Amino acid sequence: CIENLSELEKLAVLGHGNGGTVYKVCHKKTSLVYALKVLRFNHNAIANRQQAAREAEILKLVDSPYIIRCHGVLDNGLMDEDSGGDLCFLMEYMEEGSLHDMLRARQRLPEQVIASVARRVLQGLEYLHGMQIVHRDIKPSNLLINGRGEVKIADFGVSDVVAGTCETCDSYMGTCAYMSPERFDPERWGRDGSDGFAGDVWSLGVVVLQCHMGRFPLIGPGQRPDWTTLMCVISFGERLDMPETASAEFQSFVSACLEKDWRKRATVAELLHHPFVDTSYCSSAEDLIDYVLHG
Ligand code: ATP
Ligand code: MG
Repeated sequence: CIENLSELEKLAVLGHGNGGTVYKVCHKKTSLVYALKVLRFNHNAIANRQQAAREAEILKLVDSPYIIRCHGVLDNGLMDEDSGGDLCFLMEYMEEGSLHDMLRARQRLPEQVIASVARRVLQGLEYLHGMQIVHRDIKPSNLLINGRGEVKIADFGVSDVVAGTCETCDSYMGTCAYMSPERFDPERWGRDGSDGFAGDVWSLGVVVLQCHMGRFPLIGPGQRPDWTTLMCVISFGERLDMPETASAEFQSFVSACLEKDWRKRATVAELLHHPFVDTSYCSSAEDLIDYVLHG
């Protein structure tokens, strides 16, 4: 059990996100490698920090092969309960980075690879939803891949708490881009009676379509996903045209996720039985890591 930041050595910066930075770190005593996410809270955001700390307690209870393990929450020792400052999440390290990185390197992914990513995400959501946890931030940078070709979900709950701190920054817009119509515009689409579970399914649909098209699918190529554009397309946009090259199973899966009315949208349990994510179609973990490493 690691209790103090001084037990860790920083090895590299893995990336920056909404309100924080992720480092690759080594536990000096055991030489085990972890990812350390450092969330920065200023003094105006003490309530956010307290909420993040509370959510972190939930995070520690989550134990699933489809979800990034959180090994502990540490602070930098410079603050007391009421002050601002850093909150550090010690997480399982995922050697091959995120789906966002993979999309940057490969642009479009083969359907079998997309199917195996979708299946793992659905299995992760089945677990989280079973614990009454809504993720709220399913997007490519929160789907991570390890050296065994396993895909896992990262960053639930807490990212939602820090999101409001930076309404104009790119990674906050990144989060909005995957939001469901009922979250973006509850007046029009009706208060979400599914308590947000259906929103995670919508986000998965956007991710799956993005993997096939090689770009963010809801707006035109080169268009910036600002608030107004996203609002127009997510809340008022017509049904999306599916890529012609996609299989019938792919098209049916994405349409079931991207149903604008959350009442008619497929549930995680239904989607786990969809032929697109049938195990006979999905890449195995071995094939996935082979694809990540060699294309
Ligand atoms: P958000 O703050 O909305 O989650 P984000 O996902 O882009 O946005 P971070 O969660 O801070 O930002 O992550 C930044 C990057 O760090 C990710 O894109 C990923 O490449 C890397 N990363 C995050 N967690 C891990 C991890 N456990 N193992 C390896 N790399 C990670
Ligand atoms: Mg993240």
